Amino acid sequence: MTVDPRSLLQNQSFWQQECGAYSPNPPLTEDIKADVVIIGAGFTGLNTAWQFKQDNPNARVVVLEAAIVGFGASGRNAGFSTKMFGLEPEIVLLRWGKQKMIEAHQYLKKAVAHTQQLIEEHGFDSDYRHSGLVRISYSDKQQERMKKTYQLFQELGIDEDMTWRDKQHVQQEFHSEQFAGGIYESGTGQLDPCKQVRALKKLAESAGVTVYETTPVTNITRTASAIIVDIPGHKITADKIVVATNAYSRQIPDTRRLQTRQHPIWTYQIVTERLSDAQWESIGWKNRQAFGDNRQMLHYFRPTVDGRIVMGGGDAIVYRTDATHEVPSPMTWQHCEAHLKWIYPQLKDTRIDYRWGGPVSLNADMVPEISFIDDERIIYSGGCFGHGVALTHLNGRTIADLLNGNKTELTDFWIVNRKSLSLSSDTLTFLAGRTARCALKAWDWWEERALKSSPGERIG
Ligand SMILES: Cc1cc2nc3c(=O)[nH]c(=O)nc-3n(C[C@H](O)[C@H](O)[C@H](O)COP(=O)(O)OP(=O)(O)OC[C@H]3O[C@@H](n4cnc5c(N)ncnc54)[C@H](O)[C@@H]3O)c2cc1C
Repeated sequence: MTVDPRSLLQNQSFWQQECGAYSPNPPLTEDIKADVVIIGAGFTGLNTAWQFKQDNPNARVVVLEAAIVGFGASGRNAGFSTKMFGLEPEIVLLRWGKQKMIEAHQYLKKAVAHTQQLIEEHGFDSDYRHSGLVRISYSDKQQERMKKTYQLFQELGIDEDMTWRDKQHVQQEFHSEQFAGGIYESGTGQLDPCKQVRALKKLAESAGVTVYETTPVTNITRTASAIIVDIPGHKITADKIVVATNAYSRQIPDTRRLQTRQHPIWTYQIVTERLSDAQWESIGWKNRQAFGDNRQMLHYFRPTVDGRIVMGGGDAIVYRTDATHEVPSPMTWQHCEAHLKWIYPQLKDTRIDYRWGGPVSLNADMVPEISFIDDERIIYSGGCFGHGVALTHLNGRTIADLLNGNKTELTDFWIVNRKSLSLSSDTLTFLAGRTARCALKAWDWWEERALKSSPGERIG
């Protein structure tokens, strides 16, 4: 990946722009040796680096980032720290069974708590609010499905922080006539992803981790005694490496096993101008929770600390290009804006100030994985899908346990070293992605066909 560092400091997410000027660390310009090299400075890479360094204060731990800290999904996401896992809960249940679904829920519950604790213990200034999440439906059909989801959580005994809310209740709270009901989930939070990832960098550095930015890994070679990591003009000789590149992992030159593990899928977001007090009054939403709908092509919404609304989703696009360069999607941004104004006609004249997109990592099973690649000296993390904020924070602890060679409750989680299906053909993956997208959109259309001016009908 050839990167002009200047281009990385602009045209990024609202969060990155709001966070202000950023001076990246200089690139690595010599050959070095390290105990552990971590490729990628997002939530996964930085959490892993910090955790491992805490366990091994004398170890030389190096993070190599092709662009800048938080360049990937970690600096562009919506900041929902939630217990969501995989696609729909029903699909996870069908594919993986009850026990694994319960275990995934417990892991994610721990992940949300772990993330909050990290923020509070280290005084991160990342605007964390443990304000809960509301899952909303628009149509009777979606509401029936939501009821089944709620009953499923109850049957599995994982509904501890969930409350069912009827139409009247959600409409009263959110002042939108489009809402048909919802589930309130109190044990989740929201944060500013860019502030969070930059705070993680500082924390890791304060423990003695070295972070090199604008330092792309161009090759990985195994020898009997070491792993050799190439960067332009130099090499690092390491005992172990962690490939924490999530949606970018196809570009890491390594074995085919790594390159066929997942595919990037693009998702897009918009941010409104600051709303006036009167506008906030008109839309209710007093508790400022995050919320999302239960469409297959879900939309999600949250307030910012400066009084804007961030919203995203509504589409997920597979491209043939790599994940590095943002592909603009005016159609998706337009869809998001129209959808926001469909929910809230009160905001029909509200301006959209920011638009951007980012890649999430999707694999054939649609659940995340942490795996050894060929041998225990290379650990890969990917497939975090759109729900990686809390997950990747705890995964950092899990990967540190693996690097230490320890078997722990976390390394026993079934996403660790599971047998994932490979996405062997690019063309087939592209076609399957496009077909799945059409099928999911058709599902939404079917469930929303009775709505007046349904959101699915308005934009392709
Ligand atoms: C638009 C959007 C909204 C999202 N919203 C949410 C949300 O609200 N809640 C939630 O839970 N999840 C959300 N997600 C998902 C979540 O952001 C990700 O799962 C998570 O941030 C992944 O973190 P990571 O560290 O594994 O990967 P990344 O943050 O993508 O980091 C990978 C890093 O690797 C670097 N890299 C790539 N190639 C190389 C190379 N050759 N050499 C060196 N470095 C390299 C990249 O530059 C990048 O910085 C969203 C994602 C997107 C895109």
